[in-house]
Amino acid sequence: MTEKVVVLGAGYAGAGAINTLQSELGEDARLTWIADVDYHLVLHEAHRVIRDPDVRSDITFPVEEIADPSTQFIQADVTGLDVDEQVVELADAEDVEYDYVLVALGSQTAYYGIPGLEEHSLTLKSLDDALEIHEAVKEASEEATRGEPAQVVIGGAGLSGIQTAGEIAEFRDNHRAPIEIHLVEALEEIFPGNDPEIQQALRDLLEDAGVQIHTDDPITEATEDHIEFDEGEPLEHDVLVWTGGITGRDALDDADLEKEHNRVNAEATFQTSEERVFAIGDSAIVDQGDQPAPPTAQAAWQAAEVVGENIARAIEGRPLKTWEFTDKGTVISVGEKAVAHEVKPALGLSLPVDTFGGKPAQTLKKLIAARWIASITSWNTARKSWSSL
Ligand SMILES: Cc1cc2nc3c(=O)[nH]c(=O)nc-3n(C[C@H](O)[C@H](O)[C@H](O)COP(=O)(O)OP(=O)(O)OC[C@H]3O[C@@H](n4cnc5c(N)ncnc54)[C@H](O)[C@@H]3O)c2cc1C
Repeated sequence: MTEKVVVLGAGYAGAGAINTLQSELGEDARLTWIADVDYHLVLHEAHRVIRDPDVRSDITFPVEEIADPSTQFIQADVTGLDVDEQVVELADAEDVEYDYVLVALGSQTAYYGIPGLEEHSLTLKSLDDALEIHEAVKEASEEATRGEPAQVVIGGAGLSGIQTAGEIAEFRDNHRAPIEIHLVEALEEIFPGNDPEIQQALRDLLEDAGVQIHTDDPITEATEDHIEFDEGEPLEHDVLVWTGGITGRDALDDADLEKEHNRVNAEATFQTSEERVFAIGDSAIVDQGDQPAPPTAQAAWQAAEVVGENIARAIEGRPLKTWEFTDKGTVISVGEKAVAHEVKPALGLSLPVDTFGGKPAQTLKKLIAARWIASITSWNTARKSWSSL
């Protein structure tokens, strides 16, 4: 009997899983890949597009460069998952039946019910989002003057917010544009929940880049032209970018699966409350004991390497492998600069310091993205993207 395996999403989780499934599945399985776009976006470099839209061609890769000819690709919006009927529901296309499905749809922005925030902010979850932020920043700076610079406010100082602020600072410098940049974080420090050493290193780079940092005061409301805080004075904005949190995709609203904030609970095998439904990446909360796997590209990428084998094992009725997330460290850019923290030694080399910047961190950041691109396409393709990473 032919087993129908369907993968939803073309991010790190989906593209990586397609790669492993293509080598793991036997002749008797049929692989279908569904995503709303016909390319893979290296989302963890999407902030580069805010500075320069031309970067887009170096961080997007057509699905046909990743998928084998035998893999069927359907470009469509997933609108639902009926786990009883075993069908994926699509907008403007026929339902797709599955024997096994992998949910890898990523996440969407969470607004936590803060009044006005969704209506008045831009977000960064796709290529179109990055292009929209670029246009908004450019337009606001064209209408501004040195005396009255454009106010660009970024809410949320995690990976996306920090790197977005860094790119807007590069845009300002490259175009001598009158822009004032504010990075706003509700918690006490930027890059919350991380080591104070990397927090300080990032703060130093952002402040050197002229980004004004506001911490320890949550946004309580957003209007067309300002945000209000719990305690501080309101802050005006011409452009407001919100990167303050994630939640699961609306497409999973009605899926009858165990979920938290619409993210699907999965065992360390990636199996969910329905044994024929697997989930990885930002769409999933993958059990790892005390803490679930983090919603990062790094975790999605590692999980994708194992999930293909586990789906093949499930088809064959063999026991599933248990996945363990390995934190290989963090590398974050602030414009052209970067900070690396607790990066696991590679090639037998040990690193004398926990946190470092300069050329080594910059090069490492490029290498990480290049290695990912090479793993789903080829080193030749990755080499062509190098200057934009
Ligand atoms: C600006 C920015 C910087 C970041 N920096 C880092 C970093 O430095 N390091 C790090 O580890 N992580 C970083 N992250 C986080 C990282 O990008 C995510 O954790 C990662 O993308 C999750 O991978 P994923 O495959 O689960 O989801 P995604 O990469 O978001 O992929 C989801 C896929 O599903 C598709 N899709 C979504 N909805 C639908 C639908 N309804 N129908 C069909 N298709 C759909 C999307 O088009 C996409 O192809 C960053 C994120 C951002 C936004």
